[in-house]
Amino acid sequence: MSLGTARHDAMLSVIRWRSESPAINYLEKSAEQLFGENVFNEEKLRKRLPKDVFRRLQRTIKVGEPLSPEIADVVASAMKEWALERGATHYTHWFHPLTGLTAEKHDSFISPTSDGKAITEFSGSALIQGEPDASSFPSGGIRATFEARGYTAWDCTSPAFIRENPNGTVLCIPTAFASWTGEALDKKTPLLRSEDALSLQALRVLNLLGDGAGASRVFTTVGAEQEYFLIDSHFYFARPDLVTCGRTLVGARPPKGQQLEDHYFGAIPQRVLACMLEVERDLYRLGVPVKTRHNEVAPGQYEIAPIFERANLAADHQMITMSTLDRVARKYGMHCLLHEKPFAGVNGSGKHTNWSMSTDTGSNLLEPGDTPHDNMVFLVFLCAVIAAVDEHALLIRSSIASPGNDHRLGANEAPPAILSIFLGDQLTEALESIVSGKSASKRSGTLKLGVTTLPSLPRHFGDRNRTSPFAFTGNKFEFRAVGASASIAWPVTVLNTVVADSLARIADELNEAIGKEPTPAKVRDAVARVVKRIYTEHGRVIFNGDNYAKSWQDEAARRGLPNIRNSVDAIVGANTKDDLALFDRHGVLNRREYESRYHIRLERYNTTLMIEAATLVSMARTVILPAALRYQHEVAEAIAATEAAGRQCEHETQLLDEIVALVSELREGISNLEKCLAHEHKSVESHGAAIRDEVVPTMATLRASCDRLEMIVADDLWPLPTYREMLFIK
Ligand code: ADP
Ligand code: MG
Repeated sequence: MSLGTARHDAMLSVIRWRSESPAINYLEKSAEQLFGENVFNEEKLRKRLPKDVFRRLQRTIKVGEPLSPEIADVVASAMKEWALERGATHYTHWFHPLTGLTAEKHDSFISPTSDGKAITEFSGSALIQGEPDASSFPSGGIRATFEARGYTAWDCTSPAFIRENPNGTVLCIPTAFASWTGEALDKKTPLLRSEDALSLQALRVLNLLGDGAGASRVFTTVGAEQEYFLIDSHFYFARPDLVTCGRTLVGARPPKGQQLEDHYFGAIPQRVLACMLEVERDLYRLGVPVKTRHNEVAPGQYEIAPIFERANLAADHQMITMSTLDRVARKYGMHCLLHEKPFAGVNGSGKHTNWSMSTDTGSNLLEPGDTPHDNMVFLVFLCAVIAAVDEHALLIRSSIASPGNDHRLGANEAPPAILSIFLGDQLTEALESIVSGKSASKRSGTLKLGVTTLPSLPRHFGDRNRTSPFAFTGNKFEFRAVGASASIAWPVTVLNTVVADSLARIADELNEAIGKEPTPAKVRDAVARVVKRIYTEHGRVIFNGDNYAKSWQDEAARRGLPNIRNSVDAIVGANTKDDLALFDRHGVLNRREYESRYHIRLERYNTTLMIEAATLVSMARTVILPAALRYQHEVAEAIAATEAAGRQCEHETQLLDEIVALVSELREGISNLEKCLAHEHKSVESHGAAIRDEVVPTMATLRASCDRLEMIVADDLWPLPTYREMLFIK
């Protein structure tokens, strides 16, 4: 039997790869030696800078002191020396424009001299500031093409790093990106501002609680767990939908999917593990503290998770992680799919974003300790989050809205589009006891496994709940609804901002209740009052049950919690006066900056879906229809030949009828979708609404016809790699 050539080659390539796997020598250096090798980190700064320069730079990094040009010159020169030693010929300002990707423009260190030679040069001003053309990046109306000036500004809190290529290396300098008018055109600037806002309000609260001793800054800590799929590159290239859209637009469900639950935490296939090892090795060298790897729920799906870091660094490292996965996978003949839903009917991919707050003296403000009901700092900060999530549910929901995530949230798969918080029974009880004034019951802190040789395990406050979009997991929140392909910068910016707002109000309340002469009793009473208010007003957002259950949707509706199932509604819904005022109030985004982001997000949604729809039309017309017609012809010929031989062929005639009917359905589907795409729209909003109400359902109908054809057309005539092949051949 000969299969469609691309499919056939792909299968052979998997077999070939096993004998030709590229090997790297893992024994050459230990993980400890590798870690940070390609990063210009604190240790290298200390070694290479004069003491006073190092100290002044540290003050800029740690407390935000302004940087003088002379200091920048010295740092630039040390950075250049180090980069040249590591083979760099070029440097680039590396930034996060509003495309959701990273951007770079390389400049060489070389400057020609008058005698026809060249020297390497890198000045302080080239380090601190760059000037890429801003007009070619999305600005949502902030910049027009005729006013192109944009600036990148060095973010010295995220260390510069070296990116390697077999033919040379590049020094990458993390930067913020703003327009000539000073408006932020990137994702880093608002994230940094939101960290400042949160720190300011958190310190106010800590000081009022009498717990601010020694802390001069509060950091947001973030650890993002990345889920992804790996499939063989040959399959990938044989699918126009994967190449263009990152997900399959057609594809019948395989007989075996994830029903057996045999993939999660299963043994990692050899080629995949080889790829993961190289990814991790590269990430170590870039100072990204990756910690965990495992198989995920779906076949072909995996996860990589780092140790948490300060938010800004975590966001930079997350982008580096995605690009490293993409690059290294290709080396192993595979493609990494970071889309939220590459395969229908199979689990999608998220990016669980773990989030907490911590002082610069190292105490985690969401650490309950042994007696959470007595831990005032914990209770207040916990309540700040509860109030923030309830009050700004729509904004938080909108921060993770994307075409890809629409297939996860509120579709067939959890977490649902209702934002609720899982606290666990014990913490919920602790809050309730404060509200009611009764004492909370104490539960056993250890878990007995009933086997004497096994240790007793310390039990966490509350079980895990894998169905909650926003779960408290021990000493941090896990925002599980973030999509796999998203930059975490924006969702974290939103979390920081809403919590900062909530803390600001709490600080006002505490201030008023405690007055000018604080006593421990006054503080305790004031805290109890805050907890009571928040639990009473916002307790509805706490849900410890099964978020996948239909009954929760009804219950949530009764509680008045928003359930926003698609991106258009989420994005449009979070563009209110209150949202604009919130970001403005905390200095995170001004009105123009916020509106530009709103515009860009809606436009991206529309453009992405228009590309998907056009790809589907083209595949249905030029890939699937011809295959169906070939098969139709084959069956018709078989019938003619059978009848000519004097035999009846009722079943074949039925089959032919079925094919003819499906082909005509397919044609109708194509033409309906084309009609939808031809409509003109006056605004991004009306275009978005039309996509939501017309394009998306019409795509689903057309897909259904394609998938039914896949199930009856002869396998050797089917031109696209199937789900079974992509997911199971590795
Ligand atoms: P899971 O079972 O969800 O995979 P892990 O223990 O692997 O849980 O932790 C998940 C992530 O949470 C890791 O990236 C970890 O670094 C991060 N994390 C742990 N503590 C904090 C914290 N205080 N702030 C932010 N992230 C944290
Ligand atoms: Mg997790």
